[in-house]
Amino acid sequence: MLLTCFRGDYYARFVPSESPACPCGDAAIQTRDHILAECHLYERGRHHLRSVSPSISTPIILGTHSGLNALAKFISASKAFAKAAPELVDEH
Ligand SMILES: [Zn+2]
Repeated sequence: MLLTCFRGDYYARFVPSESPACPCGDAAIQTRDHILAECHLYERGRHHLRSVSPSISTPIILGTHSGLNALAKFISASKAFAKAAPELVDEH
């Protein structure tokens, strides 16, 4: 399954003008694991993840059916990985 989302590490690689830092100020690079397990901005809904994996283990969250169900609930509750569509950038 391909998970399309907006994350800081994506921006760091492909959109250098966009800061890769997390808006919470605690992470210089906003990684997937930071969003899933650490960032206080996304605490809301994280109990869904903890109910499947108390330590929020990425292989369990992304690699099991119940993990993916919990991830869907987490994303819905926290609005993690969401971003308004980026404005089209004139490349000239
Ligand atoms: Zn953060």
